[in-house]
Amino acid sequence: MTAPHSPPKLLSIDDALALVGAHVSALPAEEVALEHAYGRFLAQHLRAAVDLPPFASSAMDGYALRAAGTPGRLAVVGESAAGSPYRGALGERETIVISTGAVIPPQADAVVPVEDVLGAGGDEIEVSEVVPPGAFVRDRGSDIRRGDPLLRTGTRLGPAQIGAAAAAGLGTLPCRRRPSVAILTTGSELRRVGERLEEGEIFDANGPMLDAALRTTGATIRRIPGAADTPEAHRAALERALEHDVVISSGGVSMGAHDLVRRVGSELGVHEVFWRVALRPGKPLAFGVHGSTLVFGLPGNPVSTLVCFELFVAPALLALQGAPSLRPQWGSARLGTAVARNAQRDDLIRVRAAGEGAETVLAPLHGQQSHQIAITAQADGLALIPAGTGELPSGSEVSYLPLHRF
Ligand code: AMP
Ligand code: MG
Repeated sequence: MTAPHSPPKLLSIDDALALVGAHVSALPAEEVALEHAYGRFLAQHLRAAVDLPPFASSAMDGYALRAAGTPGRLAVVGESAAGSPYRGALGERETIVISTGAVIPPQADAVVPVEDVLGAGGDEIEVSEVVPPGAFVRDRGSDIRRGDPLLRTGTRLGPAQIGAAAAAGLGTLPCRRRPSVAILTTGSELRRVGERLEEGEIFDANGPMLDAALRTTGATIRRIPGAADTPEAHRAALERALEHDVVISSGGVSMGAHDLVRRVGSELGVHEVFWRVALRPGKPLAFGVHGSTLVFGLPGNPVSTLVCFELFVAPALLALQGAPSLRPQWGSARLGTAVARNAQRDDLIRVRAAGEGAETVLAPLHGQQSHQIAITAQADGLALIPAGTGELPSGSEVSYLPLHRF
């Protein structure tokens, strides 16, 4: 009697990610106006174009003066408002009214807040304490100096980075081009929501879900009409999809007679890099390349589609735009209950999360099958239960990937 063939060892999540990474190269750069730069990735290091602040300015509404003349009574001889500097000279026993952000006159070296003087609003004020030189003065260049590094290559531009670029005088930013991504759903059973369902048909969940998921990645999105389970329909749809930087298909990558994505892809010249990962859900994930196009064949069950998108597709899309690492943004959290491990595959279970940061405690949802997208809609994130025997006890620290990104 011959021993049965042991099934080929499945690729680990990390090895699969490394293979995807080996085929990702950053897209070309383009200049992007600030108002369109939100969420984009910088393609170069940036330096400040001006000193920030560009001049010594007041940190408070108050009186600008010479510290050496305090304490004492000072004559009010003018005003420096934001955008309207005081042009005169300033004697030791003189002061001017100054507002926050206004130019400190060259002879002044300190500001007293308006609430700390007697006689505010009149022609003369009294400062009763010694004012230290530099009080409430923002030195020129105290935020950044012209020519100093402002933002690094690979930074994703959020509100603070865009604010900093504008403040530092940069009106356009060199950013990576957005990846253009085709979404292609396969399956003769699929109907668009709003259409009538005949016996055996279901609504296409993955098309709208992938469209939404892609919005968090900065991709430009192209929906290809869904392909029925025939080679002709697959060929026509895949040909169109392959014109993009990235193809994401759903369905048709398992072992069934109607699973055609890999076969038709191969006929069209897609070179398969891997098929199947030690992952649950999501084992039949296929990844290939066609020229510079990345082709992700996601399994059709909606939870599998979502998990594979989060673990592989989203990191790849960010890396195409120059993100420094191709890894999901794992955090860590603790299991609130014991969880059985799967012997062969890492399990990405759907969990509710309670508490904050390192104190986050995860509760697995009831209903962990790969078709259960409605239950998954109640999840806060995915917890990684590494393959192995027995169970992970309650309180175990696990990798945790929050699902809500907007
Ligand atoms: P497949 O990978 O094509 O064998 O599909 C696996 C399961 O996922 C089947 O039950 C399909 O009906 C279902 N499925 C495939 N594509 C979608 C989709 N776009 N939306 C919802 N369910 C789908
Ligand atoms: Mg199918």
